[in-house]
Amino acid sequence: MAERKIDGGCQCGAVRYSLAGEPLMAAICHCTLCRRAHAAPAVAWAIYKDDQVSFTQGQPKLYASSADAQRGFCERCGTQISFTASFLPGLIDITVGSLDDPQQITPTLHYWHSEHLPWVRFADDLPRYPDLPPFE
Ligand SMILES: [Zn+2]
Ligand SMILES: [Zn+2]
Repeated sequence: MAERKIDGGCQCGAVRYSLAGEPLMAAICHCTLCRRAHAAPAVAWAIYKDDQVSFTQGQPKLYASSADAQRGFCERCGTQISFTASFLPGLIDITVGSLDDPQQITPTLHYWHSEHLPWVRFADDLPRYPDLPPFE
């Protein structure tokens, strides 16, 4: 069976990427850092191994949003694209919202739910973890 390829990119098209195969996990983060970085109530992420992700046009500009982590975004239009961290070696989170077809990935849990906004209620029965989810 051919490996699935998923394409995505920023709003202006300066940064484009291609994802090979399935994410290790897809989840919705409610943490305050994601909220501020994206100016959004919650953020959906899909996590991949480095070698599954190729930037086919441009590169995200990196911002150290904390001592351990970097957020990648398009320096032209501001779209948030990626998250990498020293505590996630060899892995890269990609924003589900920047996929050309975000319906291709379905989150399976919520994390940092202890920081969720009280008016943010997702109509699902997925697990809600107060901080980081169990991972590998
Ligand atoms: Zn852009
Ligand atoms: Zn977060």
